[in-house]
Amino acid sequence: MGHSVIIIGSGLAGYAVARELRRLTVDQPVILLSADHAGFYSKPMLSNALTTGKTPESIINSDAEKMAAQLNITIRSNTHVTGIDKANRSILLANQEQLLYSKLVLAIGADQVRLPFQGSGADKILTVNDVDDYRHFRDVLIDKKKVAIIGAGLIGCEFANDLASAGYQVDVIDIAAQPLGRLLPPEAGAYLKKKLEAVGVVFHLDAKTQCVEQTDDRLCLVLASGEKITADIVLSSVGLTPRIKMAQEAGLSVNRGIVVDQMLQSSDEYIYALGDCAEVCGKVLPFVMPITHAARALAATLAGNPTAVKYPAMPVLVKTPACPTIVSPPEAGSAGKWQVEQDEDGVKALFLDDSGGLLGFALLGKATQEKNDLVAKLPSVLD
Ligand SMILES: Cc1cc2nc3c(=O)[nH]c(=O)nc-3n(C[C@H](O)[C@H](O)[C@H](O)COP(=O)(O)OP(=O)(O)OC[C@H]3O[C@@H](n4cnc5c(N)ncnc54)[C@H](O)[C@@H]3O)c2cc1C
Repeated sequence: MGHSVIIIGSGLAGYAVARELRRLTVDQPVILLSADHAGFYSKPMLSNALTTGKTPESIINSDAEKMAAQLNITIRSNTHVTGIDKANRSILLANQEQLLYSKLVLAIGADQVRLPFQGSGADKILTVNDVDDYRHFRDVLIDKKKVAIIGAGLIGCEFANDLASAGYQVDVIDIAAQPLGRLLPPEAGAYLKKKLEAVGVVFHLDAKTQCVEQTDDRLCLVLASGEKITADIVLSSVGLTPRIKMAQEAGLSVNRGIVVDQMLQSSDEYIYALGDCAEVCGKVLPFVMPITHAARALAATLAGNPTAVKYPAMPVLVKTPACPTIVSPPEAGSAGKWQVEQDEDGVKALFLDDSGGLLGFALLGKATQEKNDLVAKLPSVLD
């Protein structure tokens, strides 16, 4: 059997494991494979790059060559892994090459959900889930004025704020009655909406996009209400779906994500998963902080010190400068209710259980200053 740890994926998860592992062992051979360029960058920077003055090129911190030298690992970019042979502990590459592993780490991320819209313009809808998508988006944006965003979730709102602040006309369409419908109580959603409207974002809520038609060089979204919205570019950000196909075909246990336990171990003892592709103890958490915790634990395990991942409370900063927002949503299905205080300067929404225990929060505007005090009172996400 091969003695290399093989990591598939050069996103934050793949590189975090490689970096942590190298801290713990100097001589463990590591091969990192990636279907893309394997340059290292922080994906969250994509949704506020216009206002922070970043270009797709300047977002990439280090190319694959520099990362290989820095981490003393082998990196193979533009290398698509097509299959896993558990029995032989090997992976198959698109060029039919086979590589043996001692341990395999799946850090293969998630795909943007693409809703099956009707209409002649449906295939022109863009999504941004990595720096290559973003480069294309920025190219298409040149000399354009108006962008329609389908989806008022975290990424949709961040792009809306970024584009509006950079002078674009922005329409946001969502079937929900408020932005960040899964993360905020209605009062907080209304406050965020008002602040984003103040920088020029136009919301179309409770609104279903029926079809997208091409009209000359523009796109026209037809809503179920009959309303029509014309835009130069349509960006869709309606959620993510973990990449599970390869794991499923290999016979690994999958559910919403690749199923792993608290050791980040899949249903095969030599295969691990973390990041956007993984479902850790039933939780799919496509954010940076869970990756940081998971990578540390997994690296320790790979270095010979079996370590379970633990997640503390992990609030998420929503990058909407028009309305600073920090959320730590309660676990889905938690019993309790929102208690909301609000004034002109912000909203403090606490999700409390029957005995007054804090299970989650949403802080907007000035209330974001209370983050640290409140985080200390939150239960951990995974003990
Ligand atoms: C615009 C945007 C803004 C965000 N903002 C925030 C934020 O503010 N805060 C926050 O916490 N989170 C944020 N997130 C989420 C966060 O960026 C992700 O959770 C994180 O980057 C996921 O990293 P990953 O390594 O799991 O996956 P990815 O970055 O998707 O990496 C997957 C890697 O696997 C490779 N790969 C996939 N399949 C194969 C294959 N078959 N063979 C070889 N290689 C393969 C891909 O090429 C890629 O290198 C944001 C996400 C987006 C899109």
